[in-house]
Amino acid sequence: MSSLPNFQGKVYQRDTSEEYGAHAYQYATTSEADGTMTPAAIIYVASDDDIIQAIQYAREKDLGIAVRTGGHQYIGSSSTTGNNIQIDLSGREAPDRDSYPYREWSLDEEEGSLTLGVALDVDDVCAIKVQHGVFFPHGECCTVHVGGHMQTGGWSVISPTFGVMIDYLLRFDIILADGSKRTVERDSQDPIDKDLWWACLGGSPGNFGVVTSITLKYLKDEDHPKTRGFKMGWFFKQSTLEQLVQIISEINDDPNGDPDFAMSVMAFGEEYDPDVPSILPETFDNEMMKKYPHLTGVDKFHWVVPTIVVVGSWANSKGADQDDSHVDALFERFRQVPGMLSMKLINKVFPQDKMMDGAQKRPMSEIMKALTFENPREFNMPGKKLAWLGKNTSTMSQKNELGVTFAEWVAKKAHDIESIKGEFKYYGMKIAIQVGMVGGPGLANPPIVTAMGQRDGNYWLTFDVFYDPNVRGTFEKTAEFQHALAADVLSNKLNFWDDGRERRVILGPMVVNDEKPILDELWPVYYDNREVYERLLKIKQKLDPQHVFTPNLFCVGATSCPRLQSQA
Ligand SMILES: Cc1cc2nc3c(=O)[nH]c(=O)nc-3n(C[C@H](O)[C@H](O)[C@H](O)COP(=O)(O)OP(=O)(O)OC[C@H]3O[C@@H](n4cnc5c(N)ncnc54)[C@H](O)[C@@H]3O)c2cc1C
Repeated sequence: MSSLPNFQGKVYQRDTSEEYGAHAYQYATTSEADGTMTPAAIIYVASDDDIIQAIQYAREKDLGIAVRTGGHQYIGSSSTTGNNIQIDLSGREAPDRDSYPYREWSLDEEEGSLTLGVALDVDDVCAIKVQHGVFFPHGECCTVHVGGHMQTGGWSVISPTFGVMIDYLLRFDIILADGSKRTVERDSQDPIDKDLWWACLGGSPGNFGVVTSITLKYLKDEDHPKTRGFKMGWFFKQSTLEQLVQIISEINDDPNGDPDFAMSVMAFGEEYDPDVPSILPETFDNEMMKKYPHLTGVDKFHWVVPTIVVVGSWANSKGADQDDSHVDALFERFRQVPGMLSMKLINKVFPQDKMMDGAQKRPMSEIMKALTFENPREFNMPGKKLAWLGKNTSTMSQKNELGVTFAEWVAKKAHDIESIKGEFKYYGMKIAIQVGMVGGPGLANPPIVTAMGQRDGNYWLTFDVFYDPNVRGTFEKTAEFQHALAADVLSNKLNFWDDGRERRVILGPMVVNDEKPILDELWPVYYDNREVYERLLKIKQKLDPQHVFTPNLFCVGATSCPRLQSQA
């Protein structure tokens, strides 16, 4: 590639070295086709000047820029290939990470707001919230970074009550394709600000500019003194999963349900035991984690038995005077499912993984911290992730067209892989699934509507299957298993969408069957209607006519980008 300008931050140009491979590596690397996440250069930007210089370079050379912060994008579209470059705002290569400009944060008590640099991750954010007794919705994976998260919603364990992270934004700083930097205010009447607000928040992340910091309004723990958190575990059994999911479905279907509850069930195959040598070679993901922990993040805990965890909270949205006499009864329904592990035991085995049985009042900031998933990946393996949002508040608990309840269906699917029989047939494969309530008044009523789709959704399903590539046939079996699972969901025989419209989420894009990751084709499942996507196309054309922020086909209007047309 022609010579790059001098950047203050470190630069790694594509070559065959292990070092380049380590820097190009991100969450989706081993799960997607080889060569799709190999930028011509990876630039760890040190400042706005570096970002602006990268933009100028890309414009001059007619290249695309992929923007990466946490690198968690499900299908790797925060990376790129060919002549395109990637800029990284994580600060992972900064000489002093603590003083990296995009990790700065501050709290403004007068405004009641928190300003966060995009290089902070959910773990950092939780620590700040606990320190100051404040909270707002955000996701549960510790290593997801503010950079992408602030554009993909920030779906949370408190979303049914309080909505998503973007609903709390007051302003954000962004560097545009023309190299200008602006602060976009929530109430700005400037037409460009209005477009940016609408398009960046839930439109298509990284396609409109480089976000450097956000300011959001916080809620205070002290205004919600009766909040309760729930996080309890069971060893995996089909019947246990079925009972727990059925409770979720019944709560979901109850027309008189209290929207302050948000509950979900997760089930995981067993993770490796670091103390027991494996007969299989290391996976590439594991090797990366061992050799380059500062790039990949570190595993904080290991569970060695297939496990089910129920997580949730009661939000006490109306404050001190709100009646909470009914709260314990709902948690008790979960506690009554046989086999619940003792809180004392789990706290002893995983001291950093705080369990909560819902009995005690606890500040929401602490509950949210306790509900985060501490490891950077579910498993250190490639996987095929599927995620949908359902829309059905009346019949999720009833038998569907397949003649089973949703709970029976999901538990059977999980059991197929995790049972002893599954050990033979699906040896080397592991599930990571989550089923739960995420919708409700909080989600449906944003302060300002943005491009983010699916606000009418209520029921969450992620069904991820991870596979050990050292076990022959697991890739093919995973694809086959997931195609069959997707076919059931897409047929809508599970009653997942009462209006029949499939809903996917921009926080976790995926492809099924023969689909290609081309947003210009897949938009109907990510956005609410054609008008939304057409407005995104117009804004993209207006603010980035040269397609600077179009590094791959999972971008708004990418099929009209001459550089990419041969791939479409
Ligand atoms: C294991 C796991 C758990 C998750 N859990 C949740 C959850 O509980 N709730 C939830 O809402 N989401 C969740 N997500 C999804 C996650 O929030 C999104 O993928 C998010 O966009 C990731 O941001 P990132 O910066 O970490 O990743 P990246 O891959 O770096 O970025 C994601 C997208 O944002 C763009 N982007 C990143 N930084 C910037 C920037 N500074 N300026 C402009 N564009 C940028 C990228 O180009 C890319 O398109 C999860 C994802 C994973 C893999």
